[in-house]
Amino acid sequence: EGISVKEYADRLGLKAQEVIMKLMGMGVMVTINQPIDPDAAVLLAESLGIGVEVQSEESEDVLLGTEGEDSGQLVSRPPVVTIMGHTDHGKTTLLDAIRKSKIAEAEAGGITQHIGAYTIMEKDRNITFLDTPGHEAFTAMRARGAKVTDVVILVVAADDGVMPQTVEAINHSKAANVPIIVALNKVDKPEANPDRVMQELSGLGLIPEEWGGQTIYCPVSAKKRTGLDHLLEMVLLQADVLDLKANPDRRSQGVVIESKLDKGRGPVATVLVQNGTLRVGDFLVVGGNFGRVRSLINDRGQRVQEVLPSFPAEVIGLDGVPQPGESFVVVEDEKSGRQVAQSRSLKQRSAQMIRQKKVSLEDFYTQMQEGETKELNLILKVDVQGSLEPIRHALSKIGTSQVRVRFIHEGVGGIRETDVLLAQASNAIILGFNVRPDSKAAVLAEKEKVDIKFYSVIYDAIEDVRKAMEGLLAPTI
Ligand code: GDP
Repeated sequence: EGISVKEYADRLGLKAQEVIMKLMGMGVMVTINQPIDPDAAVLLAESLGIGVEVQSEESEDVLLGTEGEDSGQLVSRPPVVTIMGHTDHGKTTLLDAIRKSKIAEAEAGGITQHIGAYTIMEKDRNITFLDTPGHEAFTAMRARGAKVTDVVILVVAADDGVMPQTVEAINHSKAANVPIIVALNKVDKPEANPDRVMQELSGLGLIPEEWGGQTIYCPVSAKKRTGLDHLLEMVLLQADVLDLKANPDRRSQGVVIESKLDKGRGPVATVLVQNGTLRVGDFLVVGGNFGRVRSLINDRGQRVQEVLPSFPAEVIGLDGVPQPGESFVVVEDEKSGRQVAQSRSLKQRSAQMIRQKKVSLEDFYTQMQEGETKELNLILKVDVQGSLEPIRHALSKIGTSQVRVRFIHEGVGGIRETDVLLAQASNAIILGFNVRPDSKAAVLAEKEKVDIKFYSVIYDAIEDVRKAMEGLLAPTI
């Protein structure tokens, strides 16, 4: 819930009338008791030289006038799935196997286009798969604020077992609160040992249902295309548990998952519709771009008139190429579209100027006092395996009744870009013990203001974390 114009004026020590006049000058018409648009709030404060921070992202519904459209019209929508796992464990083969066996089966001669996602039919229900496997793409989207995945399929080769990227995939999924279904792949191989893999994964918290846990395991062979039906049924079961809903009757909104500049067609964006129905002729704001949908092309390469929630489609008719991870909304007409697009690109520019402040050890205490944080999210990278456990153990003990340390990821080796993305997406701090970031990670951390701390002795880290919790670290600029 956003604050009203009156509250905003009070907090900034301005007269409400003054604020209303200034907003009018910016083309925003409001009355004193209406909520103030967060973009306008930031811009107005900036123009007066006052720094403000928007606490919770207000939905654009207020600005777009679509508020309340959701009541009572929610219907089930298909789950959206991302496949993750260690290199060579069979992610690509599995994506292809599902695509080929399920789409060719349903539609004679159905040729699939690679548009970034595809939808299959299983038992008269749909499932959408994102075409870029791996936790890197997943967390990169999340770092840009997009949550698109409902279920993760974790591919683990039954002849190889848990590997470093398996652990990363698990931690990235957990940090995003997305449920995991394990696909034990390559069971056609004589060396396959599913039981051993289940044991290893249990040690990481993925305890199989048959052992009294909560995790669904599905033995598959992506190569021989066996076990796929069962896997897909389990995805649908998980979707039922999640009770995924959307309202096809409202104005559409969703996320860009791929984009390009096509010689003949101009800017092309593959979007995933998350709510509402997207139609040809709709006015669309995508990130800072605007357009009118000239045509929609589905994953079968067919032109369609409309796209329902959880389905992907290529959109043609935009005035520029948006970034993957940017959200889109359908607006009433060209005028409000241009207004929203403009306010968005202004917001992007001001965001670049202010750079959304991430958590740092120094200001953690302040945030905690304001009731914002109950957990201090940490990512731990160390130089040798042997030091992981003792460091983790020592830091875990620091927690108080108000706040506790939560390790969202830990691993051996240098700090990489994925670690920084995860920290950004989950508002975490990275602690490096005798390790440094590689150059890409360092650049990204600098740009996104992700806090990385370096240590060589456990004692120093304990001190810092303890002080952060007790509020003894002086804020640094
Ligand atoms: P990715 O890196 O996780 O995308 O893995 P790929 O899909 O590229 O697969 C890596 C290798 O494993 C390829 O040579 C595949 O043919 C092979 N592979 C994938 N799935 C299976 C399977 O179920 N059984 C066997 N025997 N090989 C597989």
